[in-house]
Amino acid sequence: MITKRDYYEVLDVGRNASDDEIKANYRKFALKYHPDRNPGDKESEENFKEAAEAYEVLRDPQKRNIYDQFGHQGLEGSGFSGFGGFEDIFSSFGDIFEDFFGFGTGRRSRTQVQRGADLRYDLGISFMEAAFGTETEINVEKMEMCPECGGSGSESGTHPETCSYCNGTGQVSRNQGFFTVRTTCPQCRGKGQTIPYPCSNCRGTGQVRVNKKVGVRIPAGVDNGSRLRLTGEGEAGGYGGPPGDLYVFIHVETHDFFGRHDTDVVCQIPISFVQAALGDKIKVPTLNGDKILEIPKGTQPGDLFRFRGEGIPSLRSGQRGDQVIQVMIKTPTSLTKKQERLLKEFASLESGKLSNKFKNILKGSLNSSS
Ligand SMILES: [Zn+2]
Ligand SMILES: [Zn+2]
Repeated sequence: MITKRDYYEVLDVGRNASDDEIKANYRKFALKYHPDRNPGDKESEENFKEAAEAYEVLRDPQKRNIYDQFGHQGLEGSGFSGFGGFEDIFSSFGDIFEDFFGFGTGRRSRTQVQRGADLRYDLGISFMEAAFGTETEINVEKMEMCPECGGSGSESGTHPETCSYCNGTGQVSRNQGFFTVRTTCPQCRGKGQTIPYPCSNCRGTGQVRVNKKVGVRIPAGVDNGSRLRLTGEGEAGGYGGPPGDLYVFIHVETHDFFGRHDTDVVCQIPISFVQAALGDKIKVPTLNGDKILEIPKGTQPGDLFRFRGEGIPSLRSGQRGDQVIQVMIKTPTSLTKKQERLLKEFASLESGKLSNKFKNILKGSLNSSS
């Protein structure tokens, strides 16, 4: 003979406990022994069932009355037999678990909304478009809510019906020893409803594939690899869920003349060795048209010059970087007789100057080491 513990003892409440006290203590024990928190623990399992059974009786004035007068045997006589398994417990007290524990019943999955998928679009733009920003339209192929049925999937004038296979629960149960295993209903795929007259436009899915034109505003300063997010322009959500987002990945084409380093525009300008030696004023293309750059006397190959504020605006601050100009000195490849004669004359002067200079350097180093 199986001896059953007293229900008041199980829930640790007095004989005159109020409904609220009983409920509060049941919650406490159910949480403590919940199978999700004690996976595989047989003792917790028994305690969990015991508490549920006690609560089932004491929360019901009629059952509580019978129990108070006749004890366990009285309840058996009235047809009460406790619970078969977790499934029974969860289906009886589902509200408590959802309201106070936020886990356990698995019932919510049926009505859970699904956010739509995010989409990616790769967009190529020119160097100038990246520098100044632009507006464009892109064609995005995506799933949208069916306009014919408003996403319901039913032909107009008809309605979804409760699934006959699972009686609308979206799940089917199967006993496996002590446990009841629940799986998604194969007929309605968990929705709990079937559509007897599917919408002809979307074949009952509630969504249709569309080619949508989406306007994209590209801010000045985007760079290769920049990513723009267009909220809500992704695929439609399921069961009334919100749509996903559309991510536009920017690919910037290279420019023949300008390069880029962060917010600085970089370029190389060829000048003759005469310009480098004597100094000159030259025209340099910038993002905003040509500008005059003054080359000082004695400019060396690779020297850098800057046009302040002629670069690309920062995406964050909007402040423009600089244009950095590197001079490249070109050596002439064809000279006239006269140019050649003059250069040779120049060279003879230069070598004398150089040798004098070297003599001085040598003298200096000899002096300092002695
Ligand atoms: Zn079903
Ligand atoms: Zn439709």
